[in-house]
Amino acid sequence: MIIVMKPHASKESIDHVIDIVKSNGLEVHLSAGKEVTIIGVVGDKSRLSNRNLELAPEVDKLVPVTESYKLTNLKFHPQPTTVKVGNTQIGPGSLTVMAGPCAIESREQLLLIAREVKKAGATFIRGGAYKPRTSPYSFQGLEEEGLRYMKEAKEETGLSTICEVISAESIEAAVKYIDMIQIGARNMQNFQLLREAGRSGLPVLLKRGLSATIDEWLNAAEYIIAEGNENIVLCERGIRTYETSTRNTLDISAVPVLKSKTHLPVIIDPSHATGVRAYVAPLSKAAVAVGADGLMIEVHNNPACALSDGPQSLTCEQFDALARELAPFAALAGRKFHGQ
Ligand code: PEP
Ligand code: MN
Repeated sequence: MIIVMKPHASKESIDHVIDIVKSNGLEVHLSAGKEVTIIGVVGDKSRLSNRNLELAPEVDKLVPVTESYKLTNLKFHPQPTTVKVGNTQIGPGSLTVMAGPCAIESREQLLLIAREVKKAGATFIRGGAYKPRTSPYSFQGLEEEGLRYMKEAKEETGLSTICEVISAESIEAAVKYIDMIQIGARNMQNFQLLREAGRSGLPVLLKRGLSATIDEWLNAAEYIIAEGNENIVLCERGIRTYETSTRNTLDISAVPVLKSKTHLPVIIDPSHATGVRAYVAPLSKAAVAVGADGLMIEVHNNPACALSDGPQSLTCEQFDALARELAPFAALAGRKFHGQ
């Protein structure tokens, strides 16, 4: 439930409502707008008397929130959230581009790609150090050594850094080296991992599960935010359908749907969505047109020899060309891009 206060309600009236809620053992989430303050109520409301709240001074109305996700809900927090990561930000007004290899393969490979994507306009270097591969015999990542190369890439280029984590131990290592952690599609409903990510203090990129509905995805985000971590970005990366021409099917409608349900920023990963290099550019433009806050794109200096996801990786030159093509789309959408 949310309690909507009358415009310009006094601090005294707001505190009074908060007292009533808290004295019934429930949590409050305050969203103070310019005129109207909204008080979100989280917990078991069976003991709370709605009548007492309705009669409290300067209460306008009580609105039930029927969805099971609360803190991620737009009703609790009507303004879009901007997630700050180092000296970059993800949210309204910017187009944040995260680019880099699927997997960190060596120090030289990562530094070379970091320099190239920085030049082209990315503000994040991405790269997997812990790779949750479909086959246990495929390359599993450089682990902590890879995270150290990420830190070096940041020190040299100034790019913000993001890596996927797959366990409590990998989160512990990530805290020492990188700016943002990623929960991959295969772990979207690993609830223990989501809680650990929430407690890590690092901003979290939460990818959509392979077969997850939008409501399941938002409930997964709720696990993170319930630990006190509001710095969450959602990433649509394609879902499983009957179509086999692409690796997954990009659910482009997820962007406006999410914008109507949550205040969290949303980005698109056209690389994993399609699995095909040639489709990355058109879908990147579609993502900007539909209102995405950013993109995550796989880039490799030599895709033919990549240890993972070569067929969907752009070369550095192709990424540079795409960034140039994207600039007018970003401008049209009112989003800052290129160096921000
Ligand atoms: C990735 O971004 O490296 C990755 C494995 O993506 P996903 O979890 O979306 O498959
Ligand atoms: Mn990949």
